[in-house]
Parts: sequence; C-alpha cells; structure tokens
Amino acid sequence: MRNRPEMRFDIVTIFPAMIEPPLRAGVVGRAIERGTVTVKVHDLRDFTTDRHRVVDDVPYGGGPGMVLKPEPVFRALDAIAGNGQGPAPRVILTSPQGTRFTHEVARRLSREPHLVLLCGRYEGVDERVRSRVDEELSIGDFVLTGGELPALVVIDAVARLVPGVVGDEQSVEEDSFMRGLLDFPHYTRPAQLTWPGPADPGVVSVMKVPDVLVSGNHAEIRRWRKREALARTLARRPDLLAAAALDEEEQDILRELVAKRDKN
Ligand code: SAM
Repeated sequence: MRNRPEMRFDIVTIFPAMIEPPLRAGVVGRAIERGTVTVKVHDLRDFTTDRHRVVDDVPYGGGPGMVLKPEPVFRALDAIAGNGQGPAPRVILTSPQGTRFTHEVARRLSREPHLVLLCGRYEGVDERVRSRVDEELSIGDFVLTGGELPALVVIDAVARLVPGVVGDEQSVEEDSFMRGLLDFPHYTRPAQLTWPGPADPGVVSVMKVPDVLVSGNHAEIRRWRKREALARTLARRPDLLAAAALDEEEQDILRELVAKRDKN
C-alpha cells in the first residue's frame, strides 16, 4: 500500500442535503470516518453577499431557465484554495458537455491530493466560471437536473481507488476495467439452489455453482476466472480487448475463445 496523506474532496452545490447522506454510508462513509478521505460540502449560498442569498440570474440574450452566477462560485473557490499554500486543488465542473468519466479518468484523479467538484443547476453555470476550471466531466450522454449525482459518482469511483479505502485491495484489482477486462462471475453459498419459477411456482429451477469453484483446486479456479473474464469481455465489450494487458495464458485462452466464436 502506498503511503500518502488523505485525499480531499470539496463539493460546491446549492443542495448540500442531496450530497451529505449518501456520503455517510458504505465503504466511502467508513473511509471518511477513518480520515482516509476527507469530503467537505459547501453551500453556494454561503458565498453570496445579498440578503436573499441569490445564486442565479436570468440569461443574457433571453430564453428559458436560469444561470448560476459567477461571483459566488469564485468566492467559494477562493475560500477552498485558502491562503494558497500547498498544492492547488484540481477544479472539476460537472457538465453533460464534459469529457466522458471512465475508469481511466477515475484512476488518474485518484492520484490527485485534492479535487473540487462544482455542481451546476438550471441551465448550468455562467460561462466565465470555466476560466477557473481544470476539466469538465460528464457521466454520460444524458442530461440530469444538477451536478450533485455526477459529483457523488465521481467521488465514489475515485475514492475506492485510493489506497486504504477498500479493505481488500485485491478485490479492487480484480474489478471490471482494472486490467482492461470485465470481471468474472461471482457466486456465494448455497452451492445448489432450488427455486420456484416466477411464472409457475410448480416448476422449480435447480441452480448450481460451477463445479470448479467448489473443487478446492486453486490453479483451476484461477484459470476458470481468467477464461470467464475474457469470455465476458469478448461477448460484451470486445472494444476493451485491444488495450487489455494480457499475460501469455490469457492470450492463449483468448485465441481459443475467438476461434470457437468464429466457428459458430
Ligand atoms: N444546459 C446544459 C446543457 O445542455 O449542456 C444542461 C444543464 S443541466 C440541466 C444542469 C447541471 O446538471 C449541469 O450544469 C451539470 O452540472 C449537471 N449535469 C447534467 N447532466 C450531466 C451529466 N451527464 N454529467 C455531468 N453533469 C451533468
């Protein structure tokens, strides 16, 4: 495990209540409790100077919707940067127009000591905010009502790659995308399950865990997992295979799988 100071995330939002509860749960919640990861949520309204704490205004040029004003965002960024000592945080704007957020981006961001996530709302942020943004990230080709869910997605995916956040680092290493492949299938007890069918309860299905997984033969289990991960990737995401780092055994298995597929 690498030795490094805790990773810090700052989130700027007009809806802190959307962000805080999910961060108290699960693996990330425990990492925050332990201090492996620090998350600070900032209410954009705290950086306004008027009595009504206004964060938005109508768009120049007319048209529907409101736009988040630049000054509160700039004040929030200045407050987060503090006295300018220490490394400058990397500022990320959540946006459907941004670069697609992928495992590779998450991996790159997990090496940063400090990320700031800006959550847009309404029509988005005033364009001048982009002068203080290092990168824009989109979580997919669809439009959400705000950047809070994308910010949570980014924090969850990045934080679990920070050493010490997930208890068993091997489980992270074996996850989908880590080596450019999808993960192999997982089973737990019971080894054999008899379950009534959903359409006709009189028809029962017997569902068995693959024999190799209960054989105790670790070499066979390792090979089965490699084969299943490769077969899944070939069937569902063949685009990943070109960049996957395969060992010799995996290359042999892949050749076999491709030959079998091409024969059918
Ligand atoms: N008018 C903007 C556009 O078409 O590009 C959409 C604004 S959207 C309704 C409001 C905010 O939600 C955005 O500023 C952004 O912060 C967030 N958002 C919406 N969809 C997103 C996505 N796919 N990825 C990341 N952020 C998104």
